[in-house]
Amino acid sequence: MSTLATVPTRTEIAIDWRDALRTAIRTPSELLEFLELSPEQCAALEPCANEFAQLVPRQFAARMRKGDPDDPLLRQVLPLAQEQEAVAGFASDPLEEVDATRNGVVRKYAGRALLIATAACPVHCRYCFRRHFPYAEQTAARDEWQTTVSTLAEDRQITEVILSGGDPLSLSNRRLGALVKQLDELEHLETLRIHTRFPIVLPQRIDTGLLELLAATRLRIVLVIHCNHAQEIDATVVAAVANMRHAGIIVLNQSVLLSGVNDDPDTLVELSRQLFAAGALPYYLHELDRVAGAAHFEVEASRALELIDAIRSRLPGYLVPRLVREIPGTLSKTILG
Ligand code: SF4
Repeated sequence: MSTLATVPTRTEIAIDWRDALRTAIRTPSELLEFLELSPEQCAALEPCANEFAQLVPRQFAARMRKGDPDDPLLRQVLPLAQEQEAVAGFASDPLEEVDATRNGVVRKYAGRALLIATAACPVHCRYCFRRHFPYAEQTAARDEWQTTVSTLAEDRQITEVILSGGDPLSLSNRRLGALVKQLDELEHLETLRIHTRFPIVLPQRIDTGLLELLAATRLRIVLVIHCNHAQEIDATVVAAVANMRHAGIIVLNQSVLLSGVNDDPDTLVELSRQLFAAGALPYYLHELDRVAGAAHFEVEASRALELIDAIRSRLPGYLVPRLVREIPGTLSKTILG
C-alpha cells in the first residue's frame, strides 16, 4: 500500500495537506498576482470577494497557466462581480436539501443516507451548490458522530452511507477512523461512498493513515472524486489515485458541466482520457445546479446533449459519463444522456 505508482518530486511528497491549506491563496488579488496577470487583464475579469470566501491551495494554482485570464482552473475558483447578480431561477438551496436534513443526515435517495460530514473544503468552487448551506447547524461529525450513527442504526433499509460536505476528507484520520469503525459495526450497511475533491486539489491528503483505515473496514469503499478539466490532473493526482486503487478502493469521477471551463467536446474527451489513464472512471457529468451566484457557469440543456452526443461518437462507452440533472424531491438523479 505504501508503494507510490509514479514518482512525484520529494517536495511534492513532503507537503503536509494541513500546511497547504494554511498557506492557501485567499484573496483574488494574490491569486491574480501569482498568475502574473497584468492590471488590465485583472480589471477585465472583474474579481470581487464575497461572503463565500476564496480558497485556493498553491499546489492547485500552480496547475493554472500563467498570464491566461481564461484559464479553466482559474475560472472555477476566482470570485467575480457576476456572483452578486440576482438571476431568476437561481436559489440559495437549489436542491431543497435544508428541509431534508436532520442532524447532518440528508435522506433523499432510497436505501442511502448522505452525511454532511463537515463544512470544510480544500478549495472553494464558485459553482458549488452548497455554497449557501447552513453548515453551522448541520454537520454529522459534531458530538463525535453519536447522533448520526444512532440515526443510521435505527433504519435497516439503509445499505449505503455517502460522506459529503464540505469535503469529508477535511476531517482528520482520527475522526474519520472513529466513524468508519462505528459504521462497520452496523450490519445492514454494505458500502461507504466518499465524495471528495481532495485527490484532485491536494492529493497529499491520501496519506498512509487514510489508506490504512479505509482498507481495514469490511465495508466496500467507493471514492467519487471531482475533476472538471484534464489540466487538474498531474503526477501527484495520478499517484494518489493509484494508491487508492491499490488499497482496494473503487475510484469514480464526477464533473460539473461549466461554461468557459469544459463545455466543448475536445476538453471533455481529453478529461475522460486523462481520468482513465490515471485510474478513475468517468461516472457523472452534472448539469449545473442552479445555485445563486453561479448563473454565469450555466450551459444550455440542448448544448449539454449535443456535447454528450459528440463525445459518445469519439470515445468507448465506458469513458462516456452519464449526463445527469438533480431534481429536488426525486429519488435518484435524472439521466439526460
Ligand atoms: S470541494 Fe465540493 S463541497 Fe467544496 S466547494 Fe468544491 S464542490 Fe463544493
